[in-house]
Amino acid sequence: MSETLSPQGRATLPALWAALLGWYRREKRTLPWRATQDPYAIWVSEIMLQQTRVDTVVPYYERFLARFPTAAALAEAPLDDVLAAWSGLGYYRRARLLHAGARAVAERGAMPDTRAGLRSVPGIGPYTAGAVASIAFREAVGLVDGNVARVLSRLFLIEDDMRGPGLRKAQALADAIVAVDAPGDWNQALMELGATVCTPTSPRCHACPAADACAARGAGRARELPVLAPKKKPLAESARALVARTSKRPERVLVGRRAGDRRFGGLWEPPFVADGGAFPRSLVRGTPKVVGDVVHVLSHRRLAVEVVTARLARVPGRTETLPGYDALALVTPAELVKLAVSKLARKVLAAAGVELPARDAAGR
Ligand code: SF4
Repeated sequence: MSETLSPQGRATLPALWAALLGWYRREKRTLPWRATQDPYAIWVSEIMLQQTRVDTVVPYYERFLARFPTAAALAEAPLDDVLAAWSGLGYYRRARLLHAGARAVAERGAMPDTRAGLRSVPGIGPYTAGAVASIAFREAVGLVDGNVARVLSRLFLIEDDMRGPGLRKAQALADAIVAVDAPGDWNQALMELGATVCTPTSPRCHACPAADACAARGAGRARELPVLAPKKKPLAESARALVARTSKRPERVLVGRRAGDRRFGGLWEPPFVADGGAFPRSLVRGTPKVVGDVVHVLSHRRLAVEVVTARLARVPGRTETLPGYDALALVTPAELVKLAVSKLARKVLAAAGVELPARDAAGR
């Protein structure tokens, strides 16, 4: 890395380290995962923070750590319990991978203590490996998440697409400029700057500790960066969901647990069939009634779900399942809230007039 950081030539790397680290240590938000050096706890927080807001994550993180305080405890827990603790946080693939990763760590006896070693754990990608290695083990490696990509694109005037070659440049830069004496704080300082000062549409350059080093600010181009090629439109998909209730009180609802480890795998929901499919006639009385539509947008899919309701004709047999499910159950809303239930399932139930009670402080 050259001594001059930017076309402005106004700051050197040590000056930037001092400015950003000093600012971070004074101004950082108090967050529970910043009070620990435990690599497992940092790993959990980094996985939860992907695609999820900080204030949403805090209570989930605290409950999860209380329930599964070590990788060994998580490894021993059934996946059903892990998904139930994750319920409401979304992107359940993260929970399944975290669970698989904990099992791999428990098998080897300890978490690897380098970025390269951490990459061998299922579910730990380059960003999480960089975060755990630098924060818990003080390895001098960089990392790039959305916030860091934005900050680096502006500091160094990276004009390539940040979903392609620009990202690769940012990743190389992140490693090249990491503060070797305080890599964990440095990486967190870049993330914090992106989250609180160098924000996507309204960067507060006047309040920025890196302003002197910033090429985009010098060029008056902060708001033009990062360059992001348009995302592909999500694919449209449609389905039908059946909310089937018992006739007797207390009223119970039929739910199925999705089979496999793909989308929604392991989660409980009113049974779905693909558009045009039908539910077994023997299960419900009469013709199911359409009561509403639900739209749910995932990263690459836009799901339109027609919600139908019916009375159950009979209690399903103990080993009975439906295509795509590995278990069925009849539950009251109070029982269902203790299971792993996706946001989509909650929307479907609400469209049918079934409201789930709020979880208590312990997440039950
Ligand atoms: Fe971002 Fe402005 Fe700071 Fe540059 S000076 S890093 S654009 S907030």
